Order: sequence, then C-alpha cells, then structure tokens
Amino acid sequence: MPDVFADLVGQDEAVATLRRAAAAAAAVLRHAAGERALALTPAAPGSAESAGGSGDPGAGMTHAWIFTGPPGSGRSVAARAFAAALQCAYGTGCGECPGCHTTMAGTHADVRLVVPEGLSIGVDEMRALVLRAASTPSGGRWQVVVIEDADRLTEAAGNALLKAIEEPPPRTVFLLCAPSTHPDDISVTIRSRCRVVPLRQPSADAVAEVLVRRDGIAPDVAQWAAAAAQGHVGRARRLARDPEARKRRDAVLAIPRRLTGVGAAFDAASALIEAAEAEAEASVAEADAAERAALETALGAGGTGRGAAGAIRGAAGQLKDLERRQKSRATRAQRDALDRALVDLAGFYRDALTMALRAPVAPVHTDAAALAAAGAQKWDAEGALRRLEAVLACRAAIEANVKPRIAVEAMMLALWRG
Ligand SMILES: [Zn+2]
Repeated sequence: MPDVFADLVGQDEAVATLRRAAAAAAAVLRHAAGERALALTPAAPGSAESAGGSGDPGAGMTHAWIFTGPPGSGRSVAARAFAAALQCAYGTGCGECPGCHTTMAGTHADVRLVVPEGLSIGVDEMRALVLRAASTPSGGRWQVVVIEDADRLTEAAGNALLKAIEEPPPRTVFLLCAPSTHPDDISVTIRSRCRVVPLRQPSADAVAEVLVRRDGIAPDVAQWAAAAAQGHVGRARRLARDPEARKRRDAVLAIPRRLTGVGAAFDAASALIEAAEAEAEASVAEADAAERAALETALGAGGTGRGAAGAIRGAAGQLKDLERRQKSRATRAQRDALDRALVDLAGFYRDALTMALRAPVAPVHTDAAALAAAGAQKWDAEGALRRLEAVLACRAAIEANVKPRIAVEAMMLALWRG
C-alpha cells in the first residue's frame, strides 16, 4: 500500500530523513503520554518504559524545517507528506488512517497550509497564522504550519515568523519551502534555526514512473512529458493531460523558426507576452469571480434596509482590498506562465547546444529534436550557447523586476541576431 511518501519522486535520502523524524516525533508523544500515565497510576511503573526507547525520545525531530529544491522537485509534496506522517495515528505516514487522509486532503484541523497567491506573503497573514499555530493541537498530536514559497515572505512577515520559530510553542512544527537557502530566498536567521531537507531534481525516468503509476498515464506519453518538463513533476502531469498546455508549449517551440527579422522578433515577443497573460487570466478568473460573489453575499449586496448605507461604505473598502489581492495574484500567475514558456525555450536551445557538441545526452524536447538539430548545424555550439544565455538572461531580468515585455523583446532580438 503506498504511504504518504510514495509521490516523492527520486528523493530517497530526504524520505529516509523524514521517516526517522516522524518516528522520533511519535516517540515524543508516546513519552509524554507515558509520563502522564505514570503520574496518574503510580502503581504501574515500567509500563511506559519501552515506549520512548533509550535516551532522548525526540532525537531526529525538530520544530522547524526548510525543504529546498528546484521548482517541481516536490518541496510542497515533501512538506505535506511529512505533515501527514506527524499526524498519522501510527507515526509512520501510513496513508490509511484519518490523520494521514485528512492531512493529504487539506482538511486536518491542526495543519495549516499557506499558499501565497500574490507576489508576497504579508505580515498580517503571518501574524494571524503564528497566533493560531500556538494553540493546543485539537487532535492531540502536533500543530503543523506549512509555508509554501517561504521565499515570498515580506521582511515584516519573516520577522513575525522568526519570533515564533525562536520561541516555539511545544507542539508546533513549521515546515517552510524555498528554492534554496540562499539569503535571497530565506533570511539567515530563520535558516539558522531550521533543519534543511534538500531535494534534488528527479530524473525523467523517475517522473515518468510516477505518472504511469499514480496518474494512469500511458508509458510513452509519460516518458515524453517527463523529458519535456525537465524534472518538474506537476508540469509533466499537465503536459500529459491537458491539451491546452501542449498547445501553448508547441507555440513556444515554434518561436525559433519564426524569428526571421526585427519585425518578426517583436511580433514573437508580443505573442509570448499575450499568451502568458491569457493563460494567467484563465487560471485566476474562476477564483476571482467566486471570491467576489462570496464577499458580496457576505456584505449583503443589494440590501436596502436601515444601516445599508453604512454597510456599503465599509464594503467598498473590502472590495478594494479584494481587488488589490486579486491583481497581485494575477501578476504572479502571469510571471509563472511566462517563466514556464522561457524554461521550454531554454530547453530547445540547450538541445541545439548539446547536439552541436555531439554530447551523448537525450534531448529535452524529443518532438522538436529535428528542429534543434537544424539549429545546431546553422549556429554551431557558440551560437546555440549565446541563444541559451539570452533566454536565461531574460528569466533573470524578469526575476529582478525588469518589465516582462522589455526583457522578452530584448531576448527575441538576441535570439534572432544570435
Ligand atoms: Zn497514517
């Protein structure tokens, strides 16, 4: 029976660490329960003796963790699986008990998940979270706080979190996810109080295996998608399942041969930006509408009774606040969509480079290999490398807050000129 760690693809070392920690955490709980039992029934000593094992029952467990690794390597999957193992009735992450089930389904009362929707996690959100995390776990085990994309904490939010990590409530566990432990991603002081679990980029074979086993995807499709997604499990699944995602990727891979002049380069830049905008809009539209409808209902939209005028004045502020958050989320979604396209494009030029060098490695985009081979012939290794670097420079520029259109136009011109 697959337990909660089954979907952590190609991460044996990390899984071993987390299993040990979960067992240690369970021992801490047994030890505490044993002490209580001893206090209540002093006539039966020794009954709880074997539970904790020898020495410190908590060795291997700590209250703050950082999961690091490239996007798609499974940082949040690892954090959630560990949260489930902490809530597991058997302390193993069996995948069967209510603790495992509800944690994996996102409904466990003692597991809080922070998924930033905008560009950053604000201080108010963090303060509220830290406060709630300090309460006694209702299920009698642990209060677990999972923070996805902890690199998006604002400085103030980071400080609020740091305070909680410095003086942790006895049963609270913080699980942070970040691309790396670089000071740009996570503050040095937070880092110094956490145990780090590094995840590696899983191999294409490992990703394909999980697509077949877990998602029932045909082996040849899984193999293609795993290679095209470059180790990103979620992206591989989308490519295998979603025809729209495949269409968008095809459009991106068609860019290199469309770059026939300056005008074409600007056209390609516009097309890429607009595709990212459309994709982002589609991904947030449903949530936006649902949130607005829910807020309007809560505010009693259309009410005409006494006090309605005052309610409307307050409502305007709340609606404005909602719109601000939705705008931030839309911007993030656009950047993410654009970044996915740039990763695909980088894969294409990487293929051209490895072909020009006759390196014995499999291409990322098996279905565009002929095109990459033609590029390799035309540009040589140096030309392919310059183009690859142009794509990577574009990603870096956008990350550093250069306006996406400017960065993409500069990249397209560089790709055309070579
Ligand atoms: Zn379980």
